[in-house]
Amino acid sequence: MPYNVTLIPGDGIGPEVTEATKRVLEATGITFHWDLAYAGADVLDKYGTPLPDYVLESIRKNKVALKGPITTPVGTGFRSVNVALRQGLDLYACVRPCKTYPGVPSLYRNVDIVIIRENTEDLYAGIEFEKGTPEAARLIKLISETKGNVVRDDSSFSLKMISETGSRRIVKFAFEYAHAYRRKKVTAIHKANIMKFSDGLFLAIAREVAKEYPALEFEDRLVDNMTMQLVRRPQQFDIVVAPNLYGDIVSDLCAGLVGGLGVAPGANIGDDMAVFEPTHGSAPKYTGQNKVNPMSAMLSGVMMLRHLGEVEAADRLEKAIAEVIAEGKNVTYDLTLADSQAVGTSQVADAVIEKLEET
Ligand code: NAD
Repeated sequence: MPYNVTLIPGDGIGPEVTEATKRVLEATGITFHWDLAYAGADVLDKYGTPLPDYVLESIRKNKVALKGPITTPVGTGFRSVNVALRQGLDLYACVRPCKTYPGVPSLYRNVDIVIIRENTEDLYAGIEFEKGTPEAARLIKLISETKGNVVRDDSSFSLKMISETGSRRIVKFAFEYAHAYRRKKVTAIHKANIMKFSDGLFLAIAREVAKEYPALEFEDRLVDNMTMQLVRRPQQFDIVVAPNLYGDIVSDLCAGLVGGLGVAPGANIGDDMAVFEPTHGSAPKYTGQNKVNPMSAMLSGVMMLRHLGEVEAADRLEKAIAEVIAEGKNVTYDLTLADSQAVGTSQVADAVIEKLEET
């Protein structure tokens, strides 16, 4: 029986990297029925929204989706489709493994960190008040009356909300993940010395949940110290659990440690649904050029296979990708020292398929 999977090509470089991923996934011998669904600026005119209901319905029905990146207009225009999708389907855990594959150009060796980022609350909940609006004025008045603080009249607000419920489920997810994948340590990151109520709550819950998993080591780090430690000695970290904003920033930092966004996969996981997508965005300047690295999307496909229980196929595909990286003959510009040595997106897929056929 083929697996029913929603396929969202996305925009920019999305269609190219998802096509390459679809090809390598099919080459593992596992069969899929792809339920194509479109979202983003291209569908805005037709549906009046960048995230039509049928896309969410398709994921709810299939429970699993593979997604390419989708462009978010900066400052104005519609809110992020990616954030709306995660919130709409309550995909509360963003899982981003960052691992150095031999042959990847990087200053580091033997890094193997998994960032588990809370996906639904914090500053990304989308509760904002624009400067000069009556709502912003009411908030300024409320703050002055209740806290005595003076907030400038020309302020805009983005509210940071961290709940006990949200913190508990993400930290539990991180410990369960650590247990399932035989990892040793969970590090929680926060800024609880400054944000005593929001980050303080996250930290208190993390400490409480950690007590339920005595076999796993637990530690916490202030996020600023964490970024410094990650750059100095990333090998000391294993599973990292973080509220939304810190998780977003630190996962890009970790992608940089292991060779860049071209090799950084990701998944957004809820209680009964999961959307697999690369960490990178739509890199619009490279659209349609057969240039960018599809491995981040392919490795997201590896995560999808594991999620589906197809562990043997996942291991074979990861090994094939690792071999192509190690050989260095069929890799894109981001993994070569000179552009002239680089191949295109589709050639990388051909090379991975060739490796799969050899095993
Ligand atoms: P980006 O990740 O799209 O690109 C930044 C740079 O990283 C690129 O210019 C390129 O040099 C490099 N890069 C990215 N992907 C690569 C790949 N596969 N291979 C090789 N190099 C790669 O980040 P951005 O420019 O900040 O964002 C572009 C758009 O993507 C924005 O609209 C942003 O909102 C959106 N975005 C979407 C998602 C998502 O859909 N989940 C995630 C991040 C950003």
